Amino acid sequence: MVSKLDLSEDEQALLEKVISGEISSHKIDSLTDKETAVRIRRYALEASCGVDFEHIQNYSIDVEAATKRNIENMVGVIQIPLGAAGPLKVNGEFADGVYTLPLATTEGALVASVNRGCSAITRSGGANVRIFQDVMTRAPVFRLENVIQVRKFADWVKEPEVLEQMKAKAAETTRFGKLLSVDPYVLGNTVYLRFSYDTKDAMGMNMVTIATDAVLSLIEDEFGAIPISLSGNMCTDKKPAAINTILGRGKTVVADVVLPKELVEKRFKCKPETMVEVNYRKNLLGSARAGSLGFNAHAANIIAAMYLACGQDAAHVVEGSTTITTMELTKYGDLYCSVTLPSVAVGTVGGGTNLATQAECLNILGVKGSGNPPGSNSKKLAEIVAAAVLAGEMSLVGAQAAGHLAKAHAELGR
Ligand code: NAP
Repeated sequence: MVSKLDLSEDEQALLEKVISGEISSHKIDSLTDKETAVRIRRYALEASCGVDFEHIQNYSIDVEAATKRNIENMVGVIQIPLGAAGPLKVNGEFADGVYTLPLATTEGALVASVNRGCSAITRSGGANVRIFQDVMTRAPVFRLENVIQVRKFADWVKEPEVLEQMKAKAAETTRFGKLLSVDPYVLGNTVYLRFSYDTKDAMGMNMVTIATDAVLSLIEDEFGAIPISLSGNMCTDKKPAAINTILGRGKTVVADVVLPKELVEKRFKCKPETMVEVNYRKNLLGSARAGSLGFNAHAANIIAAMYLACGQDAAHVVEGSTTITTMELTKYGDLYCSVTLPSVAVGTVGGGTNLATQAECLNILGVKGSGNPPGSNSKKLAEIVAAAVLAGEMSLVGAQAAGHLAKAHAELGR
């Protein structure tokens, strides 16, 4: 028997039943308050694996809210060190100013590296950033009888009045989301409809899933096509996919900067030409030879650290990893550098953005919650993420150009 002093008699009895398997872990929430449920579940886990959770039990986030929206079978909280890099000057349409980047990571040298990139960018006048598209997608899959039916279905979907009907149906499910387009993709007797939405400040995956589900009933009623699955993977969510790199998903963002030759030599201890060559042979040729969808040095590093800090869905690092980094010499011998992020899936409402620690990180950037106008906060966040990736890319390519990479890791004890 496991006896816990902080449990009442009833709670202790509940714990015993969970340990014995009489009550399953997910049922505890309905038998006691959420905080106690977390404790009982943790005690049961401690008992079953013979480990004392000294640290997982320490947290300050709101369990009630987290268990409602973010987590099931909660037992505690994992802590990830949070670092700050910057200042980073960003010349975006939505992010126009100087920012400090919150980066949650366990990779030593990452924050220092991004910090160095931020310094170089800021001293060069800042990163120019523009968003070229902003859509979140969901693509249900249908099976039809034959190619004749497939053709009819694809044509029907493209009729303007049908699109209007679908937009109206989607609008019934959300105040902020707007269905923009529906594009059919055909494979034999299978049809994928790629729905694209403006989701304003939400990253939007739940929003577009709910809205598309509503449209499916309209399609079934009006055309008789029966969906096989609400998601047919042409979306494409959380998998590396050429369709996202070509058509974009989430926000398609480009950032660039010109670093004066002298600054490159001073900050990165190498010549711009060397960085151009490293970028060409590594990020472009090397990635092509490897069949990679990402033509960058470590965009995923910066994206993962910012997503974790800011309450984004960490699985969307997959899409972020398809960044393309370019470097070239200007006619004055300075270094032009750009990053193109085809698929930045970020939001400042919903998902993990309401968790207290993540909300504080969004507040560092001044993007917490709904923007004015709606959509402006998530665009601001996407621009800052792109500028941060630019900083990270330049710093790592610079380190490799100067042959400093192994030394930096060794000096930082790694
Ligand atoms: P959400 O928290 O489900 O929805 C966002 C909510 O914010 C909506 O209810 C929206 O209201 C409201 N909202 C308030 N102000 C807004 C504003 N200014 N702009 C936009 N919306 C505003 O979040 P989500 O972004 O749709 O989905 C993100 C979550 O989906 C994450 O937790 C992610 O992990 C998860 N996810 C789900 C799937 C899936 O297939 N369902 C896939 C991947 C990830 P209205 O809807 O009334 O407009």
